[in-house]
Amino acid sequence: MILKKMRIRQFRNYEDQTLMFDQGIQYITGRNAQGKTNLLEAILYLSTTRSHRVNDDAELIKESRDFFLINGTLEKGNRSIELRIHVSKEGKNLFIYKSPIRKVSDFVGTCNAVMFCPDDLTLFQAAPRVRRRFIDMELSKMSKTYMNALTKANRLLKERNAALKLESINQEYVKVIDDQFLDLQVLIMKQRKKFLDELMSCGKNFYEDISQDLSDLAYTYVSAVPYEEDENAVKQSLRKKYEKNWTRDCMMKQTMIGFHKDDVIFTINGKEMSVYASQGQKRSALLALKLGIVFMNKEVTGEYPILLLDDVFSELDEYRRKKLLEVLPSEVQIFITATDRYSIPEECGKKITDWYVEHGT
Ligand code: ATP
Ligand code: MG
Repeated sequence: MILKKMRIRQFRNYEDQTLMFDQGIQYITGRNAQGKTNLLEAILYLSTTRSHRVNDDAELIKESRDFFLINGTLEKGNRSIELRIHVSKEGKNLFIYKSPIRKVSDFVGTCNAVMFCPDDLTLFQAAPRVRRRFIDMELSKMSKTYMNALTKANRLLKERNAALKLESINQEYVKVIDDQFLDLQVLIMKQRKKFLDELMSCGKNFYEDISQDLSDLAYTYVSAVPYEEDENAVKQSLRKKYEKNWTRDCMMKQTMIGFHKDDVIFTINGKEMSVYASQGQKRSALLALKLGIVFMNKEVTGEYPILLLDDVFSELDEYRRKKLLEVLPSEVQIFITATDRYSIPEECGKKITDWYVEHGT
């Protein structure tokens, strides 16, 4: 898949720009605060309908304007797909070929982009919610089943928490919620585990290749109950945990355990990555995971996603930069931003288009 054309209006510091992109590498340079990241953010927004930097869409609307618009033309094989997102204070409107799309899950992933930015480097030591968000976002783009389960589970979590906040708590009502809620949680857990297993097996090879380090990468999924193949057994143990936790939930007026509290701990040679790994090892591990996602996307959807590398080139040494571009097949469209134009070896065999950004132009 490649993004052929994009028009951005009143998005961040962009007033109105129409850009025609080519296959291969789009290398975007420019001084600080000119709009390099904003451009990649717009592409990612077209993919996930969310910003990777802020939760509030209003921040994305250009100062003193009241809406923003992103139009994208994708090329998938010999098909061309038109996407359009209009966001104002009243809300978000999504369109594919001018048809309004009501369900976000029917839009997300049509444009499939994977971002790697410096903030990602904090993944290993960040709060659990950051790692959950990483998994949820990547998995949602690959699996509508997962995205729908997550949306429903979040809605039930809200209802359950609202019920726990009432003066007199209706336990029978909460039990009714729990029946479906626990089923969804088992599904979420199962899909997260499967995703992480595949990601690790894929990422391990890239790690060795990029870092020339034979350390063993692995992960532990941390949840209220251990995951096992028998889904019914997981549901039963989760139900027992919920019963045991009932008094605490009532006291805290919220659901204290579940899919929304789970975590994943990444390890290197059996030790926690966040405390044990060197900066370079973390960087290579993260790069390997991102590459794992690119290749997993290809497996699942049949197409390579667009790769957005925001400011990561400067974080990598020459050897890693070369390796990174070598392992990516030429069909992958890659957007690179950096303040400097690093040379890219001919052996990488990729077409390079240079872009220069100044004051949102
Ligand atoms: P760096 O090299 O430092 O990462 P960059 O080129 O990636 O820089 P961006 O993050 O893309 O910079 O753009 C930052 C600029 O966008 C800043 O000047 C900021 O003030 C401006 N900006 C951000 N949000 C808005 C907005 N809603 N309206 C207008 N301008 C905005
Ligand atoms: Mg930037």
